[in-house]
Amino acid sequence: MLGAMLTDPYARKFSYLRLSITEMCNFSCRYCLPEGYRPKLSESEPELDLYEIENLFHGVAAAGFQKVRITGGEPTLRADLFEIISAASETPGIGIRALSTNGWNLKSIAARLRTAGLTHLNVSVDSLDRERFKSLSGRDSLPLVLAGIEEALSLGFAGVKVNAVLHKETAVQELDRFLELIKTRPLSVRFIELMRTGERGEYRDRHFLSAGELKLQLLQNGWMPLARGETSGPAMEFSHPEFVGRIGLIAPHAEGFCESCNRLRVTSRGRLKLCLFGEKDQSLRDLLRSKEDALGISDRMGELLRAKPVSHFLKEGRVGAARNFSVMGG
Ligand code: SAM
Ligand code: SF4
Repeated sequence: MLGAMLTDPYARKFSYLRLSITEMCNFSCRYCLPEGYRPKLSESEPELDLYEIENLFHGVAAAGFQKVRITGGEPTLRADLFEIISAASETPGIGIRALSTNGWNLKSIAARLRTAGLTHLNVSVDSLDRERFKSLSGRDSLPLVLAGIEEALSLGFAGVKVNAVLHKETAVQELDRFLELIKTRPLSVRFIELMRTGERGEYRDRHFLSAGELKLQLLQNGWMPLARGETSGPAMEFSHPEFVGRIGLIAPHAEGFCESCNRLRVTSRGRLKLCLFGEKDQSLRDLLRSKEDALGISDRMGELLRAKPVSHFLKEGRVGAARNFSVMGG
């Protein structure tokens, strides 16, 4: 039987797990890993293996979780990615299985992802200008990534989204380009405010643009806000009668953003993070030795949730322990 949903002292309900399956990445996005992935030599804890991940899914499903997102680093670098997705698909209760990827090999793997039971796909595309894409990500991969998105759209996923991190210098041009992209395609483009991390604080301050400015522009141009779904989280979504696709805004700096928090994060080494910007994490590995042990996840999470802070305190300049988001998947 599925468990009741976990809650915290602020009556927030948790039904969405974001699991990073690797810290490795093959891109070097300027705001994330500008020098590319470098293994931390002091790190001795191994990544969770497939068996531990299966148990984790079993445990969170029993704790009432309905949605799992596989992220990274770049999750498609892990050889057992399809088995991990199949494991989520075979776990009763996990109805939404999503993946975040930079899209480098999406064209060749999209069909296998679908067969493994993936339902939703988020592809990061920060710019639709080839040169700018290359300069932001360190890879000249825009045509390949776009071909992957077309492939995914042809395969009948329940949702395909494009994530673009907002940069103030190019927001206007990029908005126009993305609107062109979604005119006829059933894609949701989500603009994400640049967030401060331990390593990239100065970059964030130089390039930050509030999503509020984009929201005004959208409202003035006939875009209408949509009601929020139970498992959709804190994005504000907009639709327009002349566009097949949608626009979403993710504005962690906006008032009230944390009120609708519905997610918990687990790092690739099995550490639970209550908040992207939290200082601490707690290993769940001791509960991942068997399906039976994993039933203890509900109690462990419930206990830890008592200390979940009401907000991320980003405005107060807090960034927590996040050196960058490649460790826990953004
Ligand atoms: N490698 C995959 C990708 O890029 O989609 C998955 C991991 S990546 C850390 C997940 C998301 O976090 C991406 O959409 C990325 O743009 C976003 N991200 C990373 N650092 C960020 C930052 N400082 N502010 C806002 N979004 C960030
Ligand atoms: Fe890699 Fe994603 Fe970070 Fe870019 S945002 S460096 S693709 S983990």
